[in-house]
Amino acid sequence: MITVLVLNAGSSSLKACLYRLAPEMAATAATPPAPLWQGLLDWGQDPTVARLKVTTADQRYEASLTHPEGGIAGLRDWLKTLLETLTSGSTTLLESLAEITIIGHRVVHGGSRYQAAVRVDGQVKATITEFSEYAPLHNPANLLGMELMADICPQTPQVAVFDTAFHGQLPAVARTYPIPYELTTAGIQRYGFHGISHQYVSERAATLLQRPLAALRLITCHLGNGCSLTAVKGGVSVETTMGFTPTAGVMMGTRCGDIDPGILLYLLRRGKTVEDLDRLVNRQSGLLGISGVSNDLRQILAAIDQGNAQAQLAYDCFIYSLQRGTASLLPALGGLDALVFTAGIGENAAGVRRDVCRGLGWLGIELDSAANEEGKGDRDIALPTAPVRVLVVQTQEDWAIARACIQLL
Ligand code: ADP
Repeated sequence: MITVLVLNAGSSSLKACLYRLAPEMAATAATPPAPLWQGLLDWGQDPTVARLKVTTADQRYEASLTHPEGGIAGLRDWLKTLLETLTSGSTTLLESLAEITIIGHRVVHGGSRYQAAVRVDGQVKATITEFSEYAPLHNPANLLGMELMADICPQTPQVAVFDTAFHGQLPAVARTYPIPYELTTAGIQRYGFHGISHQYVSERAATLLQRPLAALRLITCHLGNGCSLTAVKGGVSVETTMGFTPTAGVMMGTRCGDIDPGILLYLLRRGKTVEDLDRLVNRQSGLLGISGVSNDLRQILAAIDQGNAQAQLAYDCFIYSLQRGTASLLPALGGLDALVFTAGIGENAAGVRRDVCRGLGWLGIELDSAANEEGKGDRDIALPTAPVRVLVVQTQEDWAIARACIQLL
């Protein structure tokens, strides 16, 4: 059996899950297996206190943890406590942590240096450090996760799976910003994000359509709190809406997506600080900014039901932004075989799928409203007669990381 621990270490939370499978199943599993165990640590303003949550098939466990120092020392202890739930308790899953075959880490930014998952070594860590400047909240947390796991399981190989890797083959015209070229060569380029999800759902789309991925032209729409769309041609990301940072592209929950850079210059000249603008574009914009209600689509929909015009405007701008984003990817594909919806909004909000597709009828997109509104699970929701397929696929980023680890064994 292969036992894979997947870790997603962030600046205020750490998520982990465990898969155990026979090697032949790892290679052939068409539908992702459920993790045996899921763990979460999150900590807020007070660095000495964390919340721990563990879920297995037959139990849920929650606890509050404290540490006199907090910080890295606290996280080390809390992570040990979290992992001890694998080797103790009523449903002991492992005799010891040494049974973990391999550990996979989700890493936000690896630039375009890695186009696939890689074993963690000094060189990989140096790259993650180098790109920390571009992802200051995420990359250092990812590195710390690797270092703590090297302490706890010193013999176990670790793998880095980058969110940017799937976009590592973007052509120069997609990658290059129209700015002085020396800035491009200094690294200011489109990198793209959510790559683990875009890659997984494009592979899954090929399985659902029973067509080779190499022959497909797809637009994958990852619509969660962060949103990005990617043009996938023959299994390769050829254009994507996020850019140098995840702030770019379509409108999101709290991020603005593409706006006129002149707005930022104007506000800077009016006395706003760089920190103010960071907050503005990343945390105060998008659905939250326009509606004044929430970044959460469910709350926007509830406010619309109560006649809130600003919430309606936020929703309409969101739909329009997704339609424009979709259309903007078409030149990279030269046609479209399927549009794929995924993540919290893409998987659950039938109304968003309906409204986005309504404006794209001219592309050959026509929804089967029963399949869209009442269907469940990964499925095709286009009318059988429509020339373009529309799919809903549940993203499985943890499984995609686990699979990438197994492929490296
Ligand atoms: P994250 O990017 O943080 O992983 P998710 O992928 O969980 O986020 O997506 C969160 C978004 O999904 C929120 O805007 C939430 O309102 C939306 N969402 C989740 N479930 C539903 C639902 N049933 N109907 C409409 N929107 C939903």
